[in-house]
Amino acid sequence: MKKYQIGLAGAAFTGFYYELEYDGVPPCLYCGEPVESPSMDGPLVCGPCDCGNNRDGTDWTFRENQERHKHFKHVLETHGKLIKLGEKL
Ligand SMILES: [Zn+2]
Repeated sequence: MKKYQIGLAGAAFTGFYYELEYDGVPPCLYCGEPVESPSMDGPLVCGPCDCGNNRDGTDWTFRENQERHKHFKHVLETHGKLIKLGEKL
């Protein structure tokens, strides 16, 4: 199991992170597809999602954008463990 930490808004100041654990190749937080190579946005976001694109290269529609962000939030809330700079809450 590998641990990943995703900072909440203002994490640098508040110290609050969601910690997620995955075996092997982790799924993208936005689209759920495996992230074979990390994007600029980290190891849990695939390259296309980092750019707001689908895997076929088309731009997200407004609806897709909403769905991806909903998926992101859902994964953090259901699989993430809220931590504060190393201490468990
Ligand atoms: Zn993705």
